[in-house]
Amino acid sequence: MSTPLMEVRGLSKVYRRGGLWSRTQVNAVRDLSMTIDAGQIVALVGESGSGKTTAGRILARLVRPTAGTVEFEGRPAGHQPEPTVQMIFQDVFGSLNPAHSVGHHLRRAIVRSAHEDDVDKTVAELLGSVGLRPAERFAKRYSHELSGGQRQRVGIARALAPAPRLVIADEPVSMLDMSVRVDILNLLAGLREKRGVALLYITHDLVSARYLADRITVMFSGYGVESAPATALLDEPQHPYTRLLLASVPGSTTTPTKPTVTKPTVAKPATTADGCPFVARCPLATEQCATVMPPVTTLPGDRWVRCHAVQS
Ligand code: ADP
Ligand code: MG
Repeated sequence: MSTPLMEVRGLSKVYRRGGLWSRTQVNAVRDLSMTIDAGQIVALVGESGSGKTTAGRILARLVRPTAGTVEFEGRPAGHQPEPTVQMIFQDVFGSLNPAHSVGHHLRRAIVRSAHEDDVDKTVAELLGSVGLRPAERFAKRYSHELSGGQRQRVGIARALAPAPRLVIADEPVSMLDMSVRVDILNLLAGLREKRGVALLYITHDLVSARYLADRITVMFSGYGVESAPATALLDEPQHPYTRLLLASVPGSTTTPTKPTVTKPTVAKPATTADGCPFVARCPLATEQCATVMPPVTTLPGDRWVRCHAVQS
């Protein structure tokens, strides 16, 4: 096996809120492990609040994990953001400074190894590669002169400027009109073919994850609950939460309650701090689920699941 491009082990992030008298803490990410290979497209899927953005920001070194390790090409990643890992954000309106032109944003993002006079040429190439032509005209524009889709194309061009090996795209199309979403997803998919860039695609939408990704990791309440090659995950979801997500996809034949495993269902146990966070919504929950967090079980076919009801 070759060294993965990025490997994270046991990532956790605790946000602490509040002042002197009232303190609460949020376990945004809990014991998350995953690998991304060179040129691979991995989707991180889960509902709002499940910790996807925090996980992505840890991988981009924008947030420091409370625990866990991040390795890039087999070496421990530093604490600073690196040009090799770039992030594309959901908020296409807030991510560009209205006072600066498109060209200015890109020139600032280009790592200056080239001679200064090559920079404008690189800006034009970047704009062309994200479909903003004629590049010279787009370089002079400001964000208010662009559509949402064009802004996200600029966001992608900016992420490509330092020639990254991994791009982390956090819900890159969820603020865009339906009509331009597929174009942007196709542009992202093309990065692998044209530049060999790996992609971590963060989304709440299993349909677009299936469209784009080689592998899907599902998060729930900060935990990774299931990870598998994309087709296997969609054809034979193992975790009850993955089944629930799939059943809510229009046209899906998956039923949320159909058990893949034989385990008696008991009266719904109450959620406790130590148990599985999905217990209150799980059709397969037992008393054990309420008190003991399931460990990660490795399954054949390069997949894993975190559920007491699934045996290897
Ligand atoms: P997702 O992207 O899946 O919606 P997030 O990573 O944004 O999830 O959030 C996970 C949890 O962490 C949520 O409960 C959220 O409120 C909390 N959280 C995220 N960012 C912060 C922050 N900077 N400070 C405190 N809590 C945060
Ligand atoms: Mg998010």
